[in-house]
Amino acid sequence: MAEWGRPVFHGPRQRDHAPANHPETPQRADLLLRAALDFGLESHLSADRGLSPLAAVHSPDLLAFLPSAYDRFALLKEGPRPAVPDSFAVRHLAAYGTPDFIPPHIWGQLGHYCSDNLTPILPGTWVAAYEAAQVALSAAAAVVEGAPLAYGLCRPPGHHAYRDLYGGYCYLNNAAIAAEWLVARGRRPAILDIDYHHGNGTQAIFYDRADVFFCSLHADPAEEYPYFCGFAHETGRAAGEGFTLNRPLPLDTDELAYLRALERGLAAIAAFAPDVLVLSLGFDTLAGDPHGGMALEASAFAAMGRLIAGLGRPVAVIQEGGYLLPALAPALTAILGGMTA
Ligand SMILES: [Zn+2]
Repeated sequence: MAEWGRPVFHGPRQRDHAPANHPETPQRADLLLRAALDFGLESHLSADRGLSPLAAVHSPDLLAFLPSAYDRFALLKEGPRPAVPDSFAVRHLAAYGTPDFIPPHIWGQLGHYCSDNLTPILPGTWVAAYEAAQVALSAAAAVVEGAPLAYGLCRPPGHHAYRDLYGGYCYLNNAAIAAEWLVARGRRPAILDIDYHHGNGTQAIFYDRADVFFCSLHADPAEEYPYFCGFAHETGRAAGEGFTLNRPLPLDTDELAYLRALERGLAAIAAFAPDVLVLSLGFDTLAGDPHGGMALEASAFAAMGRLIAGLGRPVAVIQEGGYLLPALAPALTAILGGMTA
């Protein structure tokens, strides 16, 4: 068994996804990796655990679509250019088919598998998303092998991706893949999502289940993406009733209010008695984030890290959102400092 200190996992192929005129850039990961190494985390390339941990979360048809979508789209008269849907399978449009109807045309499939026009498929998107999932798995594996903290520097991010639906800059749900892999090894994970946006994909993947607790702190979906879910009344379903906790927060939430909500979320997680925490970490709660609307300074992340460390469980950190601004790297340094104090 490997001797782990505090590793940061990353992979070079994640750079292959670099959409133009888009906030989710490789430069984000460059800044975060530099900060993680300066902090003292040990650099590791991710191992490749193959497709089966991805298939434990995602549908076979999504996993067949994503690697082939760009090439199929490039053959059209509209191509080659990033594959972005222009029509979506919303309500009435989907009403006449059987529930599992999948349109045959690539345009129809883009609208079937993608939830928005924010999430382009480029020639390198699949290899990057695949590697991001492997980075998450490497972080989970390090925690199983004794690391108190492992940072999976995943990009593209994952928490908006469902079992069979991608969107919100996310293609594969890295945190869910890590959590499911932990469950398969007899672990009892809780997922804490502190990205500015609700972790709608992660919630949906575990919504019916009692073996993974999901807690998300996020901007009120009445005012922010993803708009349709992330409300406080969403608490799980069937066997999963009571195992989802949403804490929607007002825009302009400051450090004091955020930490209070985080304390309550962590108390619920502690009551679940997990043996490992998967932390979906976003930095778009920072004041000035181009997508965010909250008012956290980088220093708030130190207090957040201390509260999370108070849970007393090993943590697999999975990078989600947070975009280019001067406070991005200091916020990572702060939360790592808080978690390791
Ligand atoms: Zn976000």
